[in-house]
Amino acid sequence: MPDYSGHCHCGAIGYRYHCDEPPATWTIRACQCRFCRAHDALSASDPAATLDFEAREPEFLQRYRFGLKTADFLLCRRCGVYIGALIETPKGRFGIINTHALAEPPADLAAPLAMHYDQEAKAGRVTRREERWSPVTGVPT
Ligand SMILES: [Zn+2]
Repeated sequence: MPDYSGHCHCGAIGYRYHCDEPPATWTIRACQCRFCRAHDALSASDPAATLDFEAREPEFLQRYRFGLKTADFLLCRRCGVYIGALIETPKGRFGIINTHALAEPPADLAAPLAMHYDQEAKAGRVTRREERWSPVTGVPT
């Protein structure tokens, strides 16, 4: 499976995203919450893809929760870059990547769609992530 790697600015933390779909067909989501707008974050995930979070320097991995506090947003404690998010549910671990952290951003990446999730209740949010986010195969401890 093609492998797309991304990392924070200083390289302490990153991800490998294994996805068969060409980047031009990825669904790129521009979440309109305050956190994602402040980071200019663009999210991608595919239930058929897999996602490995990795850390060359795990001590710089910062998990941040806000709002309904269902997911951990992963930031670098040194350079401040947001690389992706992770949720753990009884069905497993699921995640998204911030495509702006891709090491080699594909030139033909699909155009982003603006997303508004603020009306979502907790149960619906968890179910949506279980269905749309990518299974996570590794997380630094
Ligand atoms: Zn960093």
